[in-house]
Amino acid sequence: MTVHDDIERVLYAEDQIKTGIDRVAAEVSRAYAGRDFTVVSVLKGSCVFASDLIRRIPNRLELAFLAASSYGAGTESGELRIDFVPTGSEIEGRDLLLVDDILDTGRTLAKLKVELRARGARDVRTCVFLDKPSRRSVEMEADFKCFEVENLFVVGYGLDYAGRYRNLPYVGALRRELYTT
Ligand code: 5GP
Ligand code: MG
Repeated sequence: MTVHDDIERVLYAEDQIKTGIDRVAAEVSRAYAGRDFTVVSVLKGSCVFASDLIRRIPNRLELAFLAASSYGAGTESGELRIDFVPTGSEIEGRDLLLVDDILDTGRTLAKLKVELRARGARDVRTCVFLDKPSRRSVEMEADFKCFEVENLFVVGYGLDYAGRYRNLPYVGALRRELYTT
């Protein structure tokens, strides 16, 4: 048994992901042309996306990590807890590109944007690998995004279910019997 056996269908295959990241990387490169910025990858989910993305952006940039987790291991996002933030000098006066795996209700990125501004960031923009617009509960749109997904729980390419499946090289839907009780 491998993680592949638990996937019901593939939503975005490796070659589609590559094409999507090429497009977003070009958009980000243009938007930040001529100015330094810092990519802030929200752990753990965005580490796969962020590492592929930065290697396609030729601009001068720095990389920082922020760890946030929502309580509970289920398929619904709960209360957000910030576990780790970049140091003051990595944030103060800098232009930040906050990178996350998926924009769902919007609560995570909305809260993180406020937090980073409060810590002195000059500008905070957002870039997400996936966007689930049907689930939004707060006003929040990403400045850059790769793909939209329907209202469905997805895993792979960094996204987990109870800690697993981050290592899938594609985005897929889990077999339903694995997460419904
Ligand atoms: P938001 O605060 O926008 O509701 O939640 C964003 C977070 O919820 C994501 O960073 C991710 O951890 C989690 N999440 C939302 N939808 C999904 C999904 O379909 N699959 C997985 N694996 N995580 C999701
Ligand atoms: Mg997350």
